Amino acid sequence: MSEHLMQTYARQPVAFVRGEGVWLYDEAGDKYLDAVAGVAVCGLGHAHPRLARALCEQAATLIHTSNLYRIPLQETLADKLCALSGMDRAFFCNSGAEANEAAIKLARLHGHNRGIDNPAIVVMEKSFHGRTMATLSATGNRKVQAGFEPLVGGFVRVPFGDADAVAKLAEYHNNIVAVLVEPYQGEGGVQIPDADYLVKLRQICDGNGWWLMLDEVQTGIGRTGRWFAFQHSGIRPDVMSLAKGLGSGVPVGACLASGVAADTFVPGKHGSTFGGGPLACRAALTTLEVMAEDGLLDHAQAMGELIKSNLATALEGVPGVREIRGQGLLIGIELDRPCGDLVKQALARKCLINVTSDNVVRLVPPLVIDRDEVNHLTAVLADLIRAFLA
Ligand SMILES: *Cc1c(COP(=O)(O)O)cnc(C)c1O
Repeated sequence: MSEHLMQTYARQPVAFVRGEGVWLYDEAGDKYLDAVAGVAVCGLGHAHPRLARALCEQAATLIHTSNLYRIPLQETLADKLCALSGMDRAFFCNSGAEANEAAIKLARLHGHNRGIDNPAIVVMEKSFHGRTMATLSATGNRKVQAGFEPLVGGFVRVPFGDADAVAKLAEYHNNIVAVLVEPYQGEGGVQIPDADYLVKLRQICDGNGWWLMLDEVQTGIGRTGRWFAFQHSGIRPDVMSLAKGLGSGVPVGACLASGVAADTFVPGKHGSTFGGGPLACRAALTTLEVMAEDGLLDHAQAMGELIKSNLATALEGVPGVREIRGQGLLIGIELDRPCGDLVKQALARKCLINVTSDNVVRLVPPLVIDRDEVNHLTAVLADLIRAFLA
Protein backbone atom coordinates (compact mmCIF):
# COMPACT_ATOMS: atom_id res chain seq x y z
CA MET A 1 0.00 0.00 0.00
CA SER A 2 1.44 3.40 -0.92
CA GLU A 3 2.56 5.73 1.87
CA HIS A 4 1.56 8.59 -0.35
CA LEU A 5 -2.21 8.23 -0.31
CA MET A 6 -4.28 10.17 2.20
CA GLN A 7 -5.89 7.73 4.58
CA THR A 8 -9.50 8.38 3.61
CA TYR A 9 -10.56 4.76 3.01
CA ALA A 10 -10.45 1.47 4.90
CA ARG A 11 -9.83 -0.60 1.78
CA GLN A 12 -10.11 -4.35 1.36
CA PRO A 13 -6.67 -5.86 0.64
CA VAL A 14 -7.38 -6.75 -2.97
CA ALA A 15 -6.79 -5.01 -6.30
CA PHE A 16 -8.74 -5.73 -9.45
CA VAL A 17 -6.95 -5.44 -12.73
CA ARG A 18 -9.60 -6.51 -15.23
CA GLY A 19 -13.32 -7.02 -15.51
CA GLU A 20 -15.94 -8.61 -17.73
CA GLY A 21 -19.68 -8.24 -17.13
CA VAL A 22 -20.39 -8.85 -13.43
CA TRP A 23 -16.94 -10.43 -12.90
CA LEU A 24 -13.75 -8.79 -11.62
CA TYR A 25 -10.31 -10.42 -11.77
CA ASP A 26 -7.59 -9.78 -9.18
CA GLU A 27 -3.83 -9.67 -9.70
CA ALA A 28 -3.59 -13.45 -9.24
CA GLY A 29 -6.28 -14.06 -11.87
CA ASP A 30 -8.98 -15.12 -9.38
CA LYS A 31 -12.48 -13.99 -10.34
CA TYR A 32 -15.10 -12.38 -8.13
CA LEU A 33 -18.81 -11.83 -8.63
CA ASP A 34 -19.26 -8.08 -8.22
CA ALA A 35 -22.51 -7.18 -6.42
CA VAL A 36 -21.14 -3.72 -5.57
CA ALA A 37 -20.59 -2.46 -9.13
CA GLY A 38 -18.34 0.40 -8.03
CA VAL A 39 -21.09 1.39 -5.57
CA ALA A 40 -24.08 1.32 -7.90
CA VAL A 41 -22.08 2.79 -10.77
CA CYS A 42 -21.22 0.14 -13.38
CA GLY A 43 -24.73 -0.60 -14.65
CA LEU A 44 -23.49 -2.15 -17.91
CA GLY A 45 -21.01 -4.28 -16.00
CA HIS A 46 -17.27 -4.12 -16.56
CA ALA A 47 -15.56 -3.66 -19.91
CA HIS A 48 -18.81 -3.56 -21.88
CA PRO A 49 -17.65 -3.86 -25.52
CA ARG A 50 -19.95 -1.13 -26.85
CA LEU A 51 -18.95 1.31 -24.16
CA ALA A 52 -15.26 0.48 -24.61
CA ARG A 53 -15.51 0.99 -28.36
CA ALA A 54 -17.39 4.29 -28.00
CA LEU A 55 -14.84 5.61 -25.50
CA CYS A 56 -11.85 4.62 -27.66
CA GLU A 57 -13.45 6.25 -30.67
CA GLN A 58 -14.28 9.40 -28.73
CA ALA A 59 -10.81 9.62 -27.15
CA ALA A 60 -9.30 9.41 -30.62
CA THR A 61 -11.63 12.17 -31.84
CA LEU A 62 -12.09 14.74 -29.05
CA ILE A 63 -11.94 14.57 -25.24
CA HIS A 64 -12.35 18.11 -23.98
CA THR A 65 -13.10 21.61 -25.21
CA SER A 66 -14.73 23.40 -22.20
CA ASN A 67 -18.12 25.03 -21.83
CA LEU A 68 -16.87 28.17 -23.56
CA TYR A 69 -18.15 26.51 -26.74
CA ARG A 70 -21.11 24.44 -27.84
CA ILE A 71 -20.72 20.71 -27.14
CA PRO A 72 -23.03 18.74 -29.47
CA LEU A 73 -22.79 15.51 -27.44
CA GLN A 74 -23.81 17.44 -24.30
CA GLU A 75 -26.82 18.86 -26.15
CA THR A 76 -27.82 15.38 -27.34
CA LEU A 77 -27.46 13.97 -23.82
CA ALA A 78 -29.59 16.77 -22.35
CA ASP A 79 -32.30 16.11 -24.96
CA LYS A 80 -32.18 12.40 -24.22
CA LEU A 81 -32.34 12.74 -20.41
CA CYS A 82 -35.19 15.25 -20.66
CA ALA A 83 -37.11 12.95 -23.01
CA LEU A 84 -36.71 10.03 -20.60
CA SER A 85 -37.58 12.02 -17.46
CA GLY A 86 -40.02 14.71 -18.57
CA MET A 87 -37.67 17.36 -17.20
CA ASP A 88 -36.88 20.53 -19.18
CA ARG A 89 -33.18 21.32 -18.87
CA ALA A 90 -29.92 19.77 -17.63
CA PHE A 91 -26.69 21.08 -16.12
CA PHE A 92 -23.71 18.71 -16.31
CA CYS A 93 -21.02 18.16 -13.71
CA ASN A 94 -18.77 15.30 -12.64
CA SER A 95 -20.16 13.68 -9.49
CA GLY A 96 -23.18 13.22 -7.27
CA ALA A 97 -22.07 15.79 -4.73
CA GLU A 98 -21.67 18.36 -7.48
CA ALA A 99 -25.10 17.54 -8.89
CA ASN A 100 -26.58 18.17 -5.45
CA GLU A 101 -24.53 21.37 -5.05
CA ALA A 102 -26.16 22.59 -8.25
CA ALA A 103 -29.60 21.67 -6.87
CA ILE A 104 -28.93 23.47 -3.57
CA LYS A 105 -27.63 26.60 -5.34
CA LEU A 106 -30.63 26.53 -7.67
CA ALA A 107 -33.08 26.41 -4.74
CA ARG A 108 -31.28 29.19 -2.86
CA LEU A 109 -31.18 31.40 -5.95
CA HIS A 110 -34.90 30.79 -6.46
CA GLY A 111 -35.49 31.90 -2.86
CA HIS A 112 -33.50 35.08 -3.35
CA ASN A 113 -35.33 35.76 -6.62
CA ARG A 114 -38.57 35.64 -4.59
CA GLY A 115 -37.29 37.95 -1.84
CA ILE A 116 -36.38 35.24 0.71
CA ASP A 117 -32.88 36.19 1.84
CA ASN A 118 -32.31 33.21 4.17
CA PRO A 119 -33.81 30.34 2.14
CA ALA A 120 -34.02 26.93 3.83
CA ILE A 121 -34.15 23.45 2.33
CA VAL A 122 -35.90 20.52 4.05
CA VAL A 123 -33.66 17.43 4.29
CA MET A 124 -34.07 13.99 5.87
CA GLU A 125 -32.60 11.97 8.69
CA LYS A 126 -30.26 9.15 7.47
CA SER A 127 -29.91 10.87 4.09
CA PHE A 128 -26.69 10.96 2.09
CA HIS A 129 -25.99 13.73 -0.39
CA GLY A 130 -22.19 13.83 -0.69
CA ARG A 131 -18.96 15.02 0.92
CA THR A 132 -18.62 18.66 -0.11
CA MET A 133 -19.36 21.25 2.59
CA ALA A 134 -22.94 21.97 1.48
CA THR A 135 -23.81 18.36 0.71
CA LEU A 136 -22.33 16.94 3.92
CA SER A 137 -24.32 19.59 5.78
CA ALA A 138 -27.47 18.37 4.02
CA THR A 139 -26.55 14.77 4.84
CA GLY A 140 -28.34 13.17 7.81
CA ASN A 141 -25.36 11.31 9.26
CA ARG A 142 -23.24 12.77 12.07
CA LYS A 143 -20.25 10.59 11.09
CA VAL A 144 -20.08 12.39 7.74
CA GLN A 145 -20.25 15.83 9.41
CA ALA A 146 -18.14 15.40 12.57
CA GLY A 147 -14.96 17.46 12.52
CA PHE A 148 -16.03 19.70 9.67
CA GLU A 149 -18.05 22.24 11.60
CA PRO A 150 -19.10 24.96 11.10
CA LEU A 151 -21.60 23.32 8.80
CA VAL A 152 -23.39 25.14 6.02
CA GLY A 153 -26.71 26.47 7.36
CA GLY A 154 -30.09 26.65 5.75
CA PHE A 155 -31.18 23.03 6.19
CA VAL A 156 -34.19 21.86 8.23
CA ARG A 157 -34.25 18.14 9.05
CA VAL A 158 -37.19 15.74 9.51
CA PRO A 159 -37.47 11.92 9.66
CA PHE A 160 -37.34 10.10 6.29
CA GLY A 161 -40.64 8.62 5.15
CA ASP A 162 -42.78 10.96 7.28
CA ALA A 163 -44.71 13.28 4.94
CA ASP A 164 -46.72 14.73 7.85
CA ALA A 165 -43.50 15.98 9.46
CA VAL A 166 -42.71 17.88 6.25
CA ALA A 167 -46.23 19.34 6.08
CA LYS A 168 -45.98 20.57 9.68
CA LEU A 169 -42.89 22.65 8.88
CA ALA A 170 -45.06 25.07 6.90
CA GLU A 171 -46.69 26.17 10.18
CA TYR A 172 -43.54 27.67 11.69
CA HIS A 173 -41.11 28.33 8.83
CA ASN A 174 -41.70 30.99 6.19
CA ASN A 175 -38.34 30.65 4.48
CA ILE A 176 -38.53 27.12 3.09
CA VAL A 177 -37.92 26.92 -0.65
CA ALA A 178 -37.46 23.21 -1.35
CA VAL A 179 -37.49 19.63 -0.09
CA LEU A 180 -34.41 17.55 -0.97
CA VAL A 181 -34.94 13.80 -0.63
CA GLU A 182 -33.77 10.45 -2.00
CA PRO A 183 -36.75 8.44 -3.35
CA TYR A 184 -35.18 5.40 -1.68
CA GLN A 185 -32.27 5.90 0.70
CA GLY A 186 -29.17 3.96 -0.35
CA GLU A 187 -26.38 4.80 2.10
CA GLY A 188 -28.98 5.15 4.85
CA GLY A 189 -29.55 1.38 4.76
CA VAL A 190 -31.74 0.84 1.67
CA GLN A 191 -34.80 2.50 3.20
CA ILE A 192 -38.01 2.11 1.19
CA PRO A 193 -40.77 4.57 2.19
CA ASP A 194 -44.52 4.01 1.73
CA ALA A 195 -45.52 3.87 -1.94
CA ASP A 196 -47.38 7.20 -1.70
CA TYR A 197 -44.53 9.13 0.01
CA LEU A 198 -43.40 11.07 -3.07
CA VAL A 199 -47.02 11.77 -4.09
CA LYS A 200 -47.64 13.29 -0.66
CA LEU A 201 -44.41 15.30 -0.79
CA ARG A 202 -45.40 16.55 -4.26
CA GLN A 203 -48.76 17.73 -2.88
CA ILE A 204 -47.15 19.42 0.13
CA CYS A 205 -44.60 21.18 -2.08
CA ASP A 206 -47.31 22.34 -4.49
CA GLY A 207 -49.47 23.59 -1.62
CA ASN A 208 -46.64 25.69 -0.21
CA GLY A 209 -44.82 26.82 -3.35
CA TRP A 210 -41.78 24.67 -2.53
CA TRP A 211 -39.70 22.73 -5.00
CA LEU A 212 -39.46 18.95 -4.78
CA MET A 213 -35.81 18.07 -5.41
CA LEU A 214 -34.95 14.39 -5.76
CA ASP A 215 -31.46 13.04 -5.17
CA GLU A 216 -31.49 10.18 -7.70
CA VAL A 217 -27.70 9.87 -7.72
CA GLN A 218 -28.02 6.24 -6.59
CA THR A 219 -31.59 5.38 -7.63
CA GLY A 220 -31.50 6.86 -11.15
CA ILE A 221 -30.52 5.31 -14.51
CA GLY A 222 -32.33 2.01 -14.18
CA ARG A 223 -31.14 0.98 -10.74
CA THR A 224 -34.68 0.51 -9.41
CA GLY A 225 -36.19 -0.95 -12.60
CA ARG A 226 -37.31 2.38 -14.09
CA TRP A 227 -35.15 5.07 -15.63
CA PHE A 228 -35.72 7.13 -12.49
CA ALA A 229 -37.17 6.02 -9.15
CA PHE A 230 -39.78 8.81 -9.18
CA GLN A 231 -41.38 7.06 -12.16
CA HIS A 232 -42.70 4.40 -9.76
CA SER A 233 -44.97 7.05 -8.26
CA GLY A 234 -46.16 9.02 -11.30
CA ILE A 235 -45.06 12.45 -10.07
CA ARG A 236 -42.49 14.80 -11.59
CA PRO A 237 -39.90 16.63 -9.48
CA ASP A 238 -38.79 20.24 -9.99
CA VAL A 239 -35.15 19.24 -9.70
CA MET A 240 -33.34 15.90 -9.90
CA SER A 241 -29.68 15.05 -9.41
CA LEU A 242 -27.99 12.14 -11.19
CA ALA A 243 -24.50 10.67 -11.27
CA LYS A 244 -23.42 7.14 -10.28
CA GLY A 245 -24.91 4.95 -13.03
CA LEU A 246 -25.07 7.69 -15.66
CA GLY A 247 -21.65 7.04 -17.22
CA SER A 248 -21.26 3.36 -16.29
CA GLY A 249 -17.99 4.26 -14.53
CA VAL A 250 -16.91 7.36 -16.43
CA PRO A 251 -17.42 10.31 -14.05
CA VAL A 252 -20.47 12.35 -15.04
CA GLY A 253 -23.19 14.01 -13.01
CA ALA A 254 -26.26 16.00 -13.94
CA CYS A 255 -28.78 18.30 -12.33
CA LEU A 256 -32.08 18.28 -14.23
CA ALA A 257 -34.81 20.85 -13.69
CA SER A 258 -38.36 21.45 -14.85
CA GLY A 259 -40.61 24.52 -15.05
CA VAL A 260 -39.36 27.67 -13.27
CA ALA A 261 -36.36 25.74 -11.93
CA ALA A 262 -35.15 25.11 -15.47
CA ASP A 263 -34.78 28.85 -16.10
CA THR A 264 -33.37 29.89 -12.73
CA PHE A 265 -29.66 29.69 -13.58
CA VAL A 266 -28.55 32.42 -15.98
CA PRO A 267 -25.04 32.88 -17.43
CA GLY A 268 -22.46 33.43 -14.69
CA LYS A 269 -24.42 31.77 -11.88
CA HIS A 270 -22.89 28.30 -12.08
CA GLY A 271 -20.35 26.34 -14.05
CA SER A 272 -17.83 23.52 -14.27
CA THR A 273 -14.60 23.19 -16.24
CA PHE A 274 -14.99 19.49 -16.96
CA GLY A 275 -18.77 19.17 -16.74
CA GLY A 276 -20.47 17.69 -19.78
CA GLY A 277 -17.33 17.13 -21.82
CA PRO A 278 -17.44 15.03 -25.01
CA LEU A 279 -15.94 11.88 -23.43
CA ALA A 280 -18.27 11.81 -20.42
CA CYS A 281 -21.32 12.59 -22.55
CA ARG A 282 -20.41 9.85 -25.01
CA ALA A 283 -20.19 7.42 -22.07
CA ALA A 284 -23.61 8.49 -20.79
CA LEU A 285 -25.25 8.38 -24.23
CA THR A 286 -23.85 4.90 -24.88
CA THR A 287 -25.02 3.75 -21.44
CA LEU A 288 -28.57 4.96 -22.13
CA GLU A 289 -28.57 3.42 -25.62
CA VAL A 290 -27.43 0.00 -24.46
CA MET A 291 -29.87 0.04 -21.53
CA ALA A 292 -32.79 0.76 -23.84
CA GLU A 293 -31.78 -1.68 -26.59
CA ASP A 294 -31.03 -4.53 -24.18
CA GLY A 295 -34.19 -3.99 -22.11
CA LEU A 296 -32.17 -3.54 -18.93
CA LEU A 297 -34.96 -1.79 -16.99
CA ASP A 298 -37.30 -4.79 -17.08
CA HIS A 299 -34.31 -7.07 -16.64
CA ALA A 300 -33.18 -5.21 -13.49
CA GLN A 301 -36.72 -5.45 -12.11
CA ALA A 302 -36.87 -9.21 -12.79
CA MET A 303 -33.40 -9.93 -11.39
CA GLY A 304 -34.19 -7.87 -8.29
CA GLU A 305 -37.32 -9.93 -7.67
CA LEU A 306 -35.30 -13.13 -8.16
CA ILE A 307 -32.68 -12.01 -5.63
CA LYS A 308 -35.36 -11.16 -3.07
CA SER A 309 -37.32 -14.38 -3.54
CA ASN A 310 -34.17 -16.55 -3.49
CA LEU A 311 -33.04 -14.93 -0.25
CA ALA A 312 -36.51 -15.03 1.29
CA THR A 313 -36.66 -18.78 0.64
CA ALA A 314 -33.10 -19.52 1.74
CA LEU A 315 -33.32 -17.40 4.90
CA GLU A 316 -36.89 -18.21 5.89
CA GLY A 317 -37.24 -18.50 9.65
CA VAL A 318 -33.56 -17.68 10.29
CA PRO A 319 -33.51 -15.66 13.52
CA GLY A 320 -31.63 -12.37 13.13
CA VAL A 321 -32.79 -11.59 9.60
CA ARG A 322 -35.01 -8.55 10.12
CA GLU A 323 -36.05 -7.71 6.58
CA ILE A 324 -35.19 -8.32 2.92
CA ARG A 325 -36.25 -5.26 0.94
CA GLY A 326 -35.53 -3.26 -2.15
CA GLN A 327 -36.67 -2.03 -5.52
CA GLY A 328 -35.11 -3.33 -8.73
CA LEU A 329 -31.42 -3.98 -8.17
CA LEU A 330 -31.13 -1.83 -5.05
CA ILE A 331 -31.53 -4.45 -2.34
CA GLY A 332 -30.95 -4.46 1.41
CA ILE A 333 -30.89 -7.32 3.88
CA GLU A 334 -31.26 -5.93 7.40
CA LEU A 335 -29.87 -8.04 10.22
CA ASP A 336 -30.39 -7.59 13.95
CA ARG A 337 -26.70 -6.83 14.56
CA PRO A 338 -23.70 -5.05 12.98
CA CYS A 339 -22.46 -7.20 10.09
CA GLY A 340 -19.48 -5.39 8.56
CA ASP A 341 -17.51 -8.67 8.87
CA LEU A 342 -19.68 -10.21 6.15
CA VAL A 343 -17.84 -8.10 3.56
CA LYS A 344 -14.57 -9.93 4.33
CA GLN A 345 -16.27 -13.30 4.54
CA ALA A 346 -17.92 -12.75 1.16
CA LEU A 347 -14.59 -11.63 -0.30
CA ALA A 348 -13.09 -14.95 0.81
CA ARG A 349 -15.92 -16.68 -1.08
CA LYS A 350 -15.16 -14.48 -4.14
CA CYS A 351 -18.28 -12.33 -3.91
CA LEU A 352 -18.18 -8.55 -3.52
CA ILE A 353 -20.92 -7.14 -1.31
CA ASN A 354 -21.29 -3.98 0.72
CA VAL A 355 -22.62 -3.26 4.20
CA THR A 356 -24.20 0.10 4.95
CA SER A 357 -25.73 1.61 8.09
CA ASP A 358 -23.79 -1.03 10.12
CA ASN A 359 -26.37 -3.82 9.84
CA VAL A 360 -27.69 -3.77 6.28
CA VAL A 361 -26.12 -5.88 3.52
CA ARG A 362 -26.52 -3.86 0.33
CA LEU A 363 -26.61 -5.50 -3.09
CA VAL A 364 -26.27 -3.21 -6.12
CA PRO A 365 -24.92 -5.49 -8.86
CA PRO A 366 -24.52 -4.47 -12.50
CA LEU A 367 -27.93 -4.33 -14.22
CA VAL A 368 -26.69 -6.98 -16.68
CA ILE A 369 -26.45 -9.69 -14.01
CA ASP A 370 -28.11 -12.88 -15.30
CA ARG A 371 -30.17 -15.63 -13.69
CA ASP A 372 -27.24 -18.03 -13.06
CA GLU A 373 -25.16 -15.24 -11.58
CA VAL A 374 -28.04 -14.23 -9.30
CA ASN A 375 -28.48 -17.83 -8.16
CA HIS A 376 -24.76 -18.12 -7.40
CA LEU A 377 -24.73 -14.81 -5.49
CA THR A 378 -27.78 -15.58 -3.36
CA ALA A 379 -26.60 -19.13 -2.57
CA VAL A 380 -23.23 -17.86 -1.30
CA LEU A 381 -24.82 -14.97 0.56
CA ALA A 382 -27.54 -17.02 2.26
CA ASP A 383 -24.85 -19.47 3.38
CA LEU A 384 -22.72 -16.71 4.85
CA ILE A 385 -25.62 -14.97 6.58
CA ARG A 386 -26.89 -18.20 8.11
CA ALA A 387 -23.43 -19.04 9.47
CA PHE A 388 -22.87 -15.45 10.63
CA LEU A 389 -26.11 -15.40 12.64
CA ALA A 390 -25.71 -18.92 14.08
C1 LIG B 1 -23.16 8.43 -3.84
C2 LIG B 1 -24.21 9.43 -3.55
C3 LIG B 1 -23.93 10.81 -3.58
C4 LIG B 1 -22.54 11.36 -3.76
O1 LIG B 1 -22.01 11.08 -5.01
P1 LIG B 1 -20.45 11.37 -5.32
O2 LIG B 1 -20.31 11.07 -6.77
O3 LIG B 1 -19.66 10.44 -4.44
O4 LIG B 1 -20.18 12.78 -4.98
C5 LIG B 1 -24.97 11.68 -3.38
N1 LIG B 1 -26.23 11.24 -3.17
C6 LIG B 1 -26.53 9.93 -3.15
C7 LIG B 1 -27.94 9.51 -2.92
C8 LIG B 1 -25.53 8.98 -3.32
O5 LIG B 1 -25.83 7.68 -3.24
